[in-house]
Amino acid sequence: MANNMDDEDKKKKTDTQELKNVKFLPFSSCMDPGFWNKLCQQKLNEYRLSEDAIPIKGYYCNYLAENLPSFLNIDHSAWDIDDDVGTKHYKVLGSLKILNTIEDFKNFNYTKHLEDEGRMIWSEVMTKGPFKDPSLLNRFSLVTFPNLKKFTFHYWCLFPSLCPNKKFTIEGHPVNVNDCFSLDKMQKFVENYDKFKNELLQHQQSKNSCCAFLIDENDMNVHPFSYIQSLNEEEKKDHKIMLGFADPSTANSKPGWSLRNLLVLLSTHCYDLLNGKVRVLCLRDRTSNGVRHISHSIVLNVCLVRIDPQSDCPNVIGWERNSKEQLGPRFLDLSSGMDPYNLSESAVDLNLKLMKWRLVPDLDLEVISNSRCLLLGSGTLGCNVARCLLGWGVRNITFVDNARVSYSNPVRQSLFNFSDCLDGGKPKVACAAASIKQIFPLANAVGINLFIPMPGHPIPGINISQLHDSTCQDITHLIELIRAHDVIFLLMDTRESRWLPTLLGRSMEKIVLNVALGFDSYLIMRHGVGFSEVTKSDGVEGAWKVVPGSQLGCYFCNDIFSPGNSHLDRSLDQQCTVTRLGVPYVAASLAVELLVSLLNHPLKGQASAEIVNESVDGLPDSKEVSILGAIPHQIRGFLSNFCNIMPVCRSFNMCTACSQPVLEAYKRDGIEFLVKSINEPSSLEELTGLTKLHTDTKDIKIEELSDNEVSD
Ligand SMILES: [Zn+2]
Repeated sequence: MANNMDDEDKKKKTDTQELKNVKFLPFSSCMDPGFWNKLCQQKLNEYRLSEDAIPIKGYYCNYLAENLPSFLNIDHSAWDIDDDVGTKHYKVLGSLKILNTIEDFKNFNYTKHLEDEGRMIWSEVMTKGPFKDPSLLNRFSLVTFPNLKKFTFHYWCLFPSLCPNKKFTIEGHPVNVNDCFSLDKMQKFVENYDKFKNELLQHQQSKNSCCAFLIDENDMNVHPFSYIQSLNEEEKKDHKIMLGFADPSTANSKPGWSLRNLLVLLSTHCYDLLNGKVRVLCLRDRTSNGVRHISHSIVLNVCLVRIDPQSDCPNVIGWERNSKEQLGPRFLDLSSGMDPYNLSESAVDLNLKLMKWRLVPDLDLEVISNSRCLLLGSGTLGCNVARCLLGWGVRNITFVDNARVSYSNPVRQSLFNFSDCLDGGKPKVACAAASIKQIFPLANAVGINLFIPMPGHPIPGINISQLHDSTCQDITHLIELIRAHDVIFLLMDTRESRWLPTLLGRSMEKIVLNVALGFDSYLIMRHGVGFSEVTKSDGVEGAWKVVPGSQLGCYFCNDIFSPGNSHLDRSLDQQCTVTRLGVPYVAASLAVELLVSLLNHPLKGQASAEIVNESVDGLPDSKEVSILGAIPHQIRGFLSNFCNIMPVCRSFNMCTACSQPVLEAYKRDGIEFLVKSINEPSSLEELTGLTKLHTDTKDIKIEELSDNEVSD
């Protein structure tokens, strides 16, 4: 029995001791995944490596069910600091600090940050600004290291609170509001409070200030917080002023965190006015099942501690405890909640955007990734061009070829495997597209099994009308494909198969990149795009060196014969592309890089090319370069001496693929013209005047010969 008595006594004793100091329920950060998502986007696209503090907002409420944490919510709207948070929520302004590495996060000076944030509150207290807007006393700060590749986040939230040397104490116990006021008075208070709040909510300047208010216990009138400043000692005696605040806490005996700084403000400026004491209504305002009640609100009689407004900033506390209840950062792994496809997409984007952050801030990655690329030819070049495009973030890749994967392919052609060669081999285009999707599931890779009609390649054994039909179909298909893409890569084995897409690409004003290989050499060339008046360059110094993009030549501009069957009189080693192994890899990469530079020029395909004078160091005139540097017309490279040269040539007015007569004939006669040219290549020479040229040059040669003979 005696023992029991002791226990009872002990319990009572500890109860009163515990309640002697006011215990506050700290805020608990409640981070919405939408917040982290937006943070990643903002960091990727806007902040990059900046570690400057970013203003954000959060909000809390006073309607949570009992025993829930006292949440401070931070969601995707955190960046819209001027936006409303709704009539039932209370806005808290804060700052976001994003660190770039886990080391930065570990070594961050959290003590100093705490002091800095505390000083901001203290300076508000000293200016008395919070009497007008008590929400200025509520702040938070979020320090984080987001791992954008893994979608994990280290973060630590701070809810800075000033801590006077002496603690706030409480007279007696916190009591339920029902035990303090009659039902009648309570009702009166609710009416007055609603009126007060509605009035404040109607004005932008006062919207946030309804988080704290004053109540006159005599008539239960509700006054703005600033009302206390207008009272003098005499008036104070006639009123029984009580502090009220929207209490985020749900604990029976603990007021919420936001009361702390309010008490500091009163202790600093109103200690004498209030005789060192203030009664506090911790207003909790809940509606459940359609019924509103505030009866779970609590009332405390708090003893203030005198704070000299001239004194230094009091101590600051407020770092949030983690899930282990320790003062330390939290860790969040959202990767499992993320679609792995999205994860792979954001990781790919991140790698590219790092380029923007550090090296080329103005790099336009979107124009690259949005380019729809048509790859004509799916051999070594096609595979490697596709992989390089994929790396640059290009999503839309279409392969065109009609070959099957053979046993010699996989070792060179990076999108094929041994199993693709079995049973006669799978179609290359289907394999290549599937392989791209294996590498990056969000890529839109398509394979089109299509023979590209070419001059001098009639199909044997089929009568003319059938040939005509199937050729027409193939041509129509190719026209559709070129129309649906922005960039056309010519990556085929033969010269003549490039003729039709060259003509079509030129006619539809597409960017056409041509890659051709020799044994130890390569040619990468961008064809002219668009049409313009021939520049009047006469007399302008150096103008001859710059060729506008619309006047650049094509692959066939150097030819004085129409394309024919180049395989006919060649041995096997000449027919297949037998090259030093690295040649297609180098050429494929250069072709994609040329495209990337070109797309980053404001004129895109119409960007001029400049003949670079080798004796002049550095880059050509700034007008002719993109932010990535030069945009040559051609790159001719030689592995025999590991050199590249970058010649420029104007389009040839008798070119069989890009000259005006050809383009006009196509415009006029359409597919009929194309079929005719394919079946009778010599008709092209006739059309462009090459036939005449041949005759003329024959004559010239004879004349020259005879001249020489004479002079000899
Ligand atoms: Zn041409």
